[in-house]
Amino acid sequence: MAPQHGKTLNTHISVDTWRSTIILLKRMVQQLEIREVDFDELKRNLEFTASLLEALYTSGTPPSLDADDDLQLRSDVVPVEVRDWLASTFTQRVQPIRQRLEEKPKFRSIVHAVQAGIFVERMFRKAYSTAMPDQPAEVINCLRDLDRWSFDVFSLDAVSSGHSLKTLFIELIIKHHLNSRFKVPISCLMSFLCELERGYSKHTNAYHNHTHAADVTHTVHCLLLRTRVLYWLTELEVLACLFAAAIHDYEHTGNTNNFHINTRSELAMIYNDHSVQESHHVSAAFRLLQDENTNIFINLTRPEWLELRSLVIEMVLGTDMSSHVLQVKAMRSCLQQHESIDKPKALSLILHAADISHPAKPWSLHSRWTPRLMEEFFTQGDKEAEMGLAISPLCDRHNTPVSQSQIAFMEFIVEPTFSLISDMSEKIVIPLIQDTAGPSPTCSRYRGLQWTVADLVSFRSMWMRHTEENKNRWRDKVKNGVSHSDESETQTGQDTA
Ligand code: AMP
Ligand code: MG
Ligand code: ZN
Repeated sequence: MAPQHGKTLNTHISVDTWRSTIILLKRMVQQLEIREVDFDELKRNLEFTASLLEALYTSGTPPSLDADDDLQLRSDVVPVEVRDWLASTFTQRVQPIRQRLEEKPKFRSIVHAVQAGIFVERMFRKAYSTAMPDQPAEVINCLRDLDRWSFDVFSLDAVSSGHSLKTLFIELIIKHHLNSRFKVPISCLMSFLCELERGYSKHTNAYHNHTHAADVTHTVHCLLLRTRVLYWLTELEVLACLFAAAIHDYEHTGNTNNFHINTRSELAMIYNDHSVQESHHVSAAFRLLQDENTNIFINLTRPEWLELRSLVIEMVLGTDMSSHVLQVKAMRSCLQQHESIDKPKALSLILHAADISHPAKPWSLHSRWTPRLMEEFFTQGDKEAEMGLAISPLCDRHNTPVSQSQIAFMEFIVEPTFSLISDMSEKIVIPLIQDTAGPSPTCSRYRGLQWTVADLVSFRSMWMRHTEENKNRWRDKVKNGVSHSDESETQTGQDTA
């Protein structure tokens, strides 16, 4: 896009001008990222964007308020402050705190501000490279497969001495440039991840532990990449996705929500039987951030923090399996009725899919996850028996049809969810390709979009192939009479895959 310097700006700025300016700004950032900078052009573009912002500043046009839609307020009758109050008190939307008038930035200094921003980013990159210990060669080797669906989180856990979550989260934050973009202090990140891993070990669960959290975090990254939904997101949304995945089972007790409700546990009392564990995961993780030594979001602006928090809460609460049917139905009907896709709903579905993704992975991974989950279920069944309660479905270690349960789980839960993810991604991403179909985008971030249609097709066939193969493996076990919990192979979790 040609820079529009020299064009006269009046106080009415058209939507097209805004859109062009946003693209222009993003292009500048991208050029800086790949270090292909024409300084004269950069200066002209910055001058143009500064003059546009200055025109807006002079006009004093207030940002539009979405609360109008909810409360049907007529902007000519209701003053801005009253609309803000109504919106923040009587709708669910959290209004970002408006900057006080005297705090408005002086746009004449915008070039300096951008230069300072670049400088701070460089400083953060340097701090990370000096503070990070050298990774063992085996870890580096393992992380080479980070973008692959078949990434082996068990191997990463082994070579990182049981720190797969910490290692993976840092790697992904750096890979997506989020540490420098949001100025995440390396010391806070290290301390936060130590605490997070500690919380995942609290109940020594066979399945819901830090390795599962690492697996889900990796899978969210891979889903965003493979479906190309990544290109639809802002950096803050990517950060929210990775964070939500990393914390989504924090301090899991190794029991189901129904167990909490039936035993009237402390958590069930606190959360009134609603999404008992999920409410705890998200609440306890945000509590960790209250300490400034572990607050990785310390440098986010208040509106950024509010947006991230709201997104993370919605995503983690969406991992409550009891909301599966509702989530799937709502997204299906949105796609059928050609409505626009709500981002938090789409991202919640992606986290939910990642959470149940192991049956859609290669057998070598799926066959290691299933016995772990079963062992956790059986431990709950043992407790239920001890307490004189009825044993929950799939929790009786002497009488559970493991193979059949896996086949049914894939057919009724995993496949419909992944099919929906594939359909949703097509709906989201294909218009993005059309938007960038003009002069080829210079940014490395958008270059990947050009291959999208083929990628979406190959993603769909990949997860379908794995679920089909895994179902066949379980069917073979049924045929060979090793499908039940009390038959040695599934009971011990030893598998020959
Ligand atoms: P979460 O507890 O957050 O990890 O959510 C995932 C839930 O999906 C588990 O607790 C199980 O209830 C269910 N799930 C995941 N994988 C399987 C599986 N292979 N078989 C049966 N249920 C599964
Ligand atoms: Mg969970
Ligand atoms: Zn989980």
